[in-house]
Amino acid sequence: MKETDFFNEKDVEKQATLNCLFCGQRDSYNIRWRQRTKKERLPSSASREDLQKFAKAQSYLIRIDDKVSCKNIRCRKRFEISGLQTVAFLS
Ligand SMILES: [Zn+2]
Repeated sequence: MKETDFFNEKDVEKQATLNCLFCGQRDSYNIRWRQRTKKERLPSSASREDLQKFAKAQSYLIRIDDKVSCKNIRCRKRFEISGLQTVAFLS
């Protein structure tokens, strides 16, 4: 089994406050994340090794967006998202 077989995938949006690297304006942006939620159980075809890996697996989010477009109409530049993690674990 692949690691991705342990999870149900769904894309979600979360708000984050970011500073534009060009004009410095602070604003909130909707950032897209891929949410991988651990399944309740594995199918009966899972091997012992799969079950061990599955036991350690944790639900998590991976950030999809790398850049956002500045909301300042006089700027509108695309800037890289910094200060926001690329992977976040869900408890
Ligand atoms: Zn800007």
